Amino acid sequence: MPQRRTMSLDRRRLLQGSAAAGLLGLGGCATSPGAGPSPSQAAEVPVWEIPPPLRPLRAEAQRLFDITVCLRPFRAAGPRLDVERIGDTTVVHNYGYGGSGWSLSWGGAAIAVAKAMAASPQEIAVIGCGAIGLTSAITAQQAGAKVTIYAKELLPQTRSSRATGLWTPDSRIALTDVAGPAFGDLWEQMARTSFRTYRNYLGLPGTPVEWVDMYSVLDAPEGRGGSSQPPGALDFASYDGRIRNLGPHSQLLPRELSPFDAPDVYRSSVMMFNIADYGHTLMADFLAAGGRIVVREFHAPSELAELPQTVVINCPGYGGRALWRDETVVPVRGQVGRLIPQPDVNYSLYYKEVLMLPRRDGIIVQALEGGDMKGYGDSNETVDRVESEKAVGVLAEAYSRFKARG
Ligand SMILES: Cc1cc2nc3c(=O)[nH]c(=O)nc-3n(C[C@H](O)[C@H](O)[C@H](O)COP(=O)(O)OP(=O)(O)OC[C@H]3O[C@@H](n4cnc5c(N)ncnc54)[C@H](O)[C@@H]3O)c2cc1C
Repeated sequence: MPQRRTMSLDRRRLLQGSAAAGLLGLGGCATSPGAGPSPSQAAEVPVWEIPPPLRPLRAEAQRLFDITVCLRPFRAAGPRLDVERIGDTTVVHNYGYGGSGWSLSWGGAAIAVAKAMAASPQEIAVIGCGAIGLTSAITAQQAGAKVTIYAKELLPQTRSSRATGLWTPDSRIALTDVAGPAFGDLWEQMARTSFRTYRNYLGLPGTPVEWVDMYSVLDAPEGRGGSSQPPGALDFASYDGRIRNLGPHSQLLPRELSPFDAPDVYRSSVMMFNIADYGHTLMADFLAAGGRIVVREFHAPSELAELPQTVVINCPGYGGRALWRDETVVPVRGQVGRLIPQPDVNYSLYYKEVLMLPRRDGIIVQALEGGDMKGYGDSNETVDRVESEKAVGVLAEAYSRFKARG
């Protein structure tokens, strides 16, 4: 595959996308990157844009209480959403969401459930109890079906619970040349449906979903230095430009107002999923609506035809590779560490390709160097503690550039 991008995708998202569309964004930046604001620009900043005093993170490796690894179920063509017959049973597939499963789940569920309800079944079986299975199950209940989930593992044991917890709807979702332009339209439909649905989870007790500020501390302006994708990097599809109108864009902070002493500090707003509470909320909502859960492992597609339900939505995530012998599902390994929560740290930070996300169930620390190729094709789920400790060290360095304010 040719190398089409010289810059890491995370850095590109950081600098170009809208906050609603990805990790971070710069679409509506009043000052062009690299130009640098003059001191007088600080005086022009509206009072509500002045960053509040931030509490520093306790960036100490000994505070890492949890480190987990998970495999993104990546498909070059995008998620599998076709319909298949096995005997008398209709199987609607819904798996292969790469690094965007939480973000796109409601949109994918809407598409899968519409296909499953085509024959107006009274009962539906859902295989899988991760982000995709649960949202499919709840969406099917809302469409009027009685739903039973069958799964080997339930949240919080499923891989979904080991995700970062950010709205990242086009993270490793497809390859540009394999997925083709039609997938872009489908992706946009899924992203918009999901984004709308997430509004319903804001402001709830337990804070399953919330918006937080994110600060990106950069030494080299866009186009001058920074990280590179490795040689031969794949051309992962990027669609964030399609939904730039969904949320606020990021801004380059005037240097004297920036909480960190660095040439370029951007601030944006990002949607964050507090996965412990959000997962719990989904499970509770499903059960409260009369949902049933059966713990069961399937070893072959033919076993689905033995279920009492004749319409099945198949959401096995990375498990689809083994269950369906589907080698189009490629593992993309990812690791996150969690530091002991600090309720006073209510903002996210990106520095030297390390992400800090202030989740309430543990402050996420994630090394992102290597861009979208990081972990590609790697199914090793063994924890690498050194990686997380190093990432905490990078954050400690960021705080050596922190300007303490009252
Ligand atoms: C490090 C990391 C960070 C991520 N961060 C984000 C993020 O910030 N935002 C985002 O949107 N996405 C993120 N993702 C991606 C997201 O986590 C996945 O896309 C999503 O979890 C996939 O959900 P799923 O329900 O398809 O799979 P899973 O969570 O793996 O669920 C699969 C379900 O199917 C069941 N199952 C599988 N095989 C069988 C079988 N044979 N028989 C019975 N049951 C079976 C399992 O037990 C489980 O219940 C991240 C991924 C990783 C690895």
